[in-house]
Amino acid sequence: MKIGSHVSLKSPHMLYGSVLEALSYDANALMVYTGAPQNTIRIPLSKMNINEALELKSKYDLEIIVHAPYIVNMASPDSEKRKFAISFLRQELERSEAFEAKYMVVHPGSYTDSSLEEGIENIIYCLNEILNDYHGNTMIVLETMAGKGTEVGFRFEQLKQIIDGVKYNLGVCFDTCHTHDSGYDLNNFDMVIKEFDRIIGIDYLKVFHINDSKNIMGAKKDRHENIGNGRIGFDVLHKIVHDERFMNVPKILETPYIDGLPPYKEEIKRLREK
Ligand code: FE
Ligand code: FE
Ligand code: ZN
Repeated sequence: MKIGSHVSLKSPHMLYGSVLEALSYDANALMVYTGAPQNTIRIPLSKMNINEALELKSKYDLEIIVHAPYIVNMASPDSEKRKFAISFLRQELERSEAFEAKYMVVHPGSYTDSSLEEGIENIIYCLNEILNDYHGNTMIVLETMAGKGTEVGFRFEQLKQIIDGVKYNLGVCFDTCHTHDSGYDLNNFDMVIKEFDRIIGIDYLKVFHINDSKNIMGAKKDRHENIGNGRIGFDVLHKIVHDERFMNVPKILETPYIDGLPPYKEEIKRLREK
């Protein structure tokens, strides 16, 4: 099972430190933001300790995933903001490639004061621009969203519409908290996957985010909870991570710290146990 968590990327060790952090949780997968997720200031790749990190990555057969910052908005009705999203995400894709990340997780965006349909059209436009002339090995995977505010991507149909409009290959990141919050019943995971397969295609599912949720199904809130302490529950999440169909799909925890400490080592251990 490829399982790990979100880890930090900070000085002085940068990506090397991120990999060490993941190893300290007994993880064999990890997800990083290439800088603070709430801003777009990025330090140069030459200062990221990439070589040391990649040595450990191959030694321990780790999977590195990048999460793009959530403040860029491809669905924005403002063309300046879309222009910024295009150039920033293109650079982010190149950083992901340097990290040997197969996948870069991106939130589709929020349509703000336009409409869902316009939001989807704008996302398609941006993704076609970002991927035009990109020949690297990192794939953009769109995250399933909770449907908070004007978020796009809280129904499989919306992600399918985007995938169909983009001329290049995309994947999907299935976030358990978000799908639950958007109204999919994970107690019936087989049914949810059947629907995913019918609408998008099971092969598009490239990454899982494994989180419990503080809120009831359909609440559209997006507040993550520690594994087993929320409304999804341990048994359902345990069943999902052990699903044979997804054995090779990396699973990333984004659960909150407990009393200022990361819960990941313990949560990974409990989820791995049969
Ligand atoms: Fe996310
Ligand atoms: Fe997520
Ligand atoms: Zn979330």
